[in-house]
Amino acid sequence: MNQFEKLTIKSTIQHLKCKDFSCKELTEYFIKKISDNRKLNCFITETPDHALEMALNSDKKIDNNEIRAMEGIPIAMKDLFCTKNVKTTAASKILENFIPFYESTVSKKLWDSGSVMLGKSNLDEFAMGSANTTSFFGNVINPIKGKNNSDLVPGGSSGGSAAAVAAGLCLGATGSDTGGSIRQPASFCGIVGMKPTYGRCSRFGMVAFASSLDQAGTLTKNVDDSAIMLQTICGYDEKDSTSSKMDVPKFSEYEKLSLKGKKIGIPKEYLVDGLNSEIKKSWENFSEEFKKIGVEIIDISLPHTKYSLPTYYIIAPAEASANLARYDGVRYGYRHQNVDNLDDLYEISRSKGFGDEVKRRIMIGTYVLSAGYYDAYYIKALKVRRLILDDFIKAFKKCDLILTPTTPNVSFLIGEKQDDPLEMYLNDVLTVPASLAGLPAISVPAGKNKDGLPFGLQIISSHFNEALVFKAAKFIEDTNK
Ligand code: GLN
Repeated sequence: MNQFEKLTIKSTIQHLKCKDFSCKELTEYFIKKISDNRKLNCFITETPDHALEMALNSDKKIDNNEIRAMEGIPIAMKDLFCTKNVKTTAASKILENFIPFYESTVSKKLWDSGSVMLGKSNLDEFAMGSANTTSFFGNVINPIKGKNNSDLVPGGSSGGSAAAVAAGLCLGATGSDTGGSIRQPASFCGIVGMKPTYGRCSRFGMVAFASSLDQAGTLTKNVDDSAIMLQTICGYDEKDSTSSKMDVPKFSEYEKLSLKGKKIGIPKEYLVDGLNSEIKKSWENFSEEFKKIGVEIIDISLPHTKYSLPTYYIIAPAEASANLARYDGVRYGYRHQNVDNLDDLYEISRSKGFGDEVKRRIMIGTYVLSAGYYDAYYIKALKVRRLILDDFIKAFKKCDLILTPTTPNVSFLIGEKQDDPLEMYLNDVLTVPASLAGLPAISVPAGKNKDGLPFGLQIISSHFNEALVFKAAKFIEDTNK
């Protein structure tokens, strides 16, 4: 086995400090591994030259003993984060050739802390999807194979990031989560996906899908790496009016917390129809495991859960339809040629530039915002969103954390559910509520089904309580070994 194969972010930092190998050697290994695994289609743009330049810079920093938090750590950047002078497509034809002249805050923070950019990872177009099959650049393949060696989806929308981490093509990756896009692919690929509290990470320079829900986060091999990487991307940013001024604690110190005497709530509404029996069993088993270490497991109710999905699929498309109005064929990306007038330019550029799922969302969003329907759909959805948040606020008076499955099922075949948007949307039924409430939530691997396919459990806390989420996730990780 190659010496680099088993590395984590945490162990690599130590090895680099001890000069067991150089960042350049490490980066060259990943560049080669990415090119050997192109069939997985994890990357839209590979950036080997950037990576080597950054790696050499990190080697210099290490020589000078100026080691930053993620010095020399090769990562993948979801192609939703604007990277200066590096193509940023959001997996859409409409942004096929968009080269930003500025850097997103999240990516800037990662480069400032020494991370090395291996490339821009694939995603569902504008982060709309749950299988990474809506990308203009083709679907991503989950490195974990199904029955008879079949190709499965990695989940979405951060499917390229999740598959790249699971396949060992990078040590960590950024993701964005609007309704589950970090947690669901993490669950399908057997890795850790963390969505922090809404407002923890700046949205500046992140291509907008639904601004009141979008939140950056991390995909990593384990919980420790998640805490290290999340640390570097959090913090107030004056360029994002919704970014939070709350202090960011040192997440790695989660280990000092104790779970003894804490209460974990099990919401009965998450026992949804069609919940896979092996996932259900694991959910029950881990409740028992928590009891053994002195955690009190209590039954809770989040009564408005059943409205989460319809609420999300009104609010998210409404915001998307407004956010995506800027792609008009004039200012960005794809522009249809040989048109007779301005209206045709808009119409043809947009209808040729966007894929079907994105168009579906724009139409739903435009509809729910239109005169006559605005109150009936959009305003009502906002009210229900508030009730969903209130459910959580009440629950967190009784418990410290909430434990649920991440997804009702394991990964599925590429192409499955593709013709049935409702079936696809059901993937998000367990992740969407925490998004609507802006709560931190993690997916941590909790087992495999009889065919060897992984699934995760989700831990949700009250706002800004990420450290406790890490603590409980680490317990699941350790117990699952
Ligand atoms: N799958 C969900 C959707 O398609 C969530 C996407 C996301 O979190 N970006 O909207």
